[in-house]
Amino acid sequence: MATIAENIQEVRRRIAAACALAGRPVEAVTLLAVGKTFAAETVRAAFDAGERSFGENYVQEALDKIAALADLRGHVEWHLIGPLQSNKTRSVAEAFDWVHTVDRLKVASRLSEQRPVGLPPLQLCLQVNISGEASKSGLAADEVLGVARAVAALPRVRLRGLMAVPAPAIDAAAQRLPYARLRELLAVLQRDGLDVDTLSMGMTADLEAAIAEGATIVRVGTAIFGAR
Ligand SMILES: *Cc1c(COP(=O)(O)O)cnc(C)c1O
Repeated sequence: MATIAENIQEVRRRIAAACALAGRPVEAVTLLAVGKTFAAETVRAAFDAGERSFGENYVQEALDKIAALADLRGHVEWHLIGPLQSNKTRSVAEAFDWVHTVDRLKVASRLSEQRPVGLPPLQLCLQVNISGEASKSGLAADEVLGVARAVAALPRVRLRGLMAVPAPAIDAAAQRLPYARLRELLAVLQRDGLDVDTLSMGMTADLEAAIAEGATIVRVGTAIFGAR
């Protein structure tokens, strides 16, 4: 079985190949290692292999892991990529560096109020229901601009861009369609004058398609840590 270090090397090779194909510099894409369901010491192995950005889905599991890896504080960034209820915002505002899954103004307002003054602004992405699935969380495309303007005006958070988890698609062309729509939505915000630069999109199965459409953060779990 491949080690976590070998898996990371292979994911980085995939990212570099996709960037080369898209004519983008490899530094334009940040790899987020998604450790949900894996133990803190497994995540530490990814740190030892050079990873510095970590994604987690479940707030309580993440808080426990961040505490267990407290010695890495200052050397790593923690990104929440799972659903966030408004009654959990305080601990998230205190422990994380990024939240990718903001889907209403109320959550962003609470994060801004609760972000400790001694910390840098919490970096936020708005989650977009880009495939228009009834069961999925995220803003509808036509709600994004209004919410983005309001979030960008909050004091203790910084709006960075957009995030999506599209419906699974089999071939590369179908995988690219929703990612192209998210890229176009980010351009709408930029034309409106908002200072946004982040497209959080692409996972183990489709990171090449996401990079082809401009992903700046890919969120990869299975290809690094194994099946869950
Ligand atoms: C689990 C998860 C990932 C990682 O998915 P893999 O297919 O394991 O790479 C990325 N983004 C979100 C939102 C996730 O929940």
